Amino acid sequence: MIKKHFLHLRSIFCSAVFLMLLFLTTSATQAQDKTIVSGIRFGVHKEVTRFVIDLNKKTKHDAFVIRNPYRVVIDLPKTAWQAQSNLPPPKYSLIKNYRHGAFKPNIHRIVLDAKTSIDIKKSFYLPANKTGKHRLVIDMVEAKGTPKALRKKTITKTRPVQKTKRVANKKPVIVIDAGHGGIDPGAIGVGGVYEKKITLSTAKMIKETLEKSGRYTVYLTRERDIYLKLKERRDFAHKKNADFFISIHADSIKNKSLRGASVYTLSEKSSDKVAEALAKTENKSDLIAGVDLSDEVQEVTNILIDLAQRETMNLSSKFASMLLKKLKGDIKLLRTPHRFAGFAVLKSVDIPSILIEIGFLSNRNDARLLIKRSFQKKFSQSLLRALDTYFESQKI
Ligand SMILES: [Zn+2]
Repeated sequence: MIKKHFLHLRSIFCSAVFLMLLFLTTSATQAQDKTIVSGIRFGVHKEVTRFVIDLNKKTKHDAFVIRNPYRVVIDLPKTAWQAQSNLPPPKYSLIKNYRHGAFKPNIHRIVLDAKTSIDIKKSFYLPANKTGKHRLVIDMVEAKGTPKALRKKTITKTRPVQKTKRVANKKPVIVIDAGHGGIDPGAIGVGGVYEKKITLSTAKMIKETLEKSGRYTVYLTRERDIYLKLKERRDFAHKKNADFFISIHADSIKNKSLRGASVYTLSEKSSDKVAEALAKTENKSDLIAGVDLSDEVQEVTNILIDLAQRETMNLSSKFASMLLKKLKGDIKLLRTPHRFAGFAVLKSVDIPSILIEIGFLSNRNDARLLIKRSFQKKFSQSLLRALDTYFESQKI
């Protein structure tokens, strides 16, 4: 009886240990198994469109093409999706849109909608970089004939992607940068008004206006009277995964009769210098949308960075002219309102950026106007309409 009881206890003990071990192993495996996607991006190099997925570890994946219409599908195991990019694929890429979501309990599916017949040239892992991220790379080209990567099963038998999230339909992120601040007052206007004060109140008004529309997520580089370096302003936009960066300023000039707003984008000439400087930095591959540069020669590197920046510059210019169209009639503009310069604050390789001089503090009328809430409101509304037009045009 006692012996039997003892045996019984022992078996309970054993099962408990067994269960505990089982629990520990399972949870350990689970933690280890968890796949995390921390970033995604596109790159275009000649005829190749590259899609890069940042992962915490090398993961088994399946990548294939389905037709009618042409799509590239990438299946990953169950995934914690932490990627925040909501940028549309670049204009010259083979992809027009993308989405992702849980396809089956253990499969996370990414679907890239192609503009044309498409094939997967190759897919491979780049060795983990300094941050420890593994990068799964899918290189795609236009298909000549039947794609090699075509999934044999017909798509009619495939279940539709469930709970998909249209990444490209996420709210665009806008970073508004109030120029100057803290020890740097910027221009001092007629009547003693500081540029740093006007830029901040205008930036706040823009934020309020854009957020009220419900269509944008807006961040300000500064919300107080503090000094920020230009690089800090750019880095802030990167950290926030900005889709557009807008820096607000108010000009001052000797000629006190000059008034009106102007919009600056980065010029070709200064951007070449930026490209040069960037090419020298180590982390260059991460700068241009995942086009891996590790084994490219210096000259090609320069060209690639230049291309990435040119695409950004084109978008910036496109927006600048859209904005000027909306501002025209609403507020006074300079005679040649679209200007090009090498402002450091505009030198983001992959975020379209503009700098707006909303007027001249050296002009009595402008100085009086620029501090008015009614003016700032009118300006913000024009900006909102321009952003709407811009992001609408980016969807196609
Ligand atoms: Zn300024």
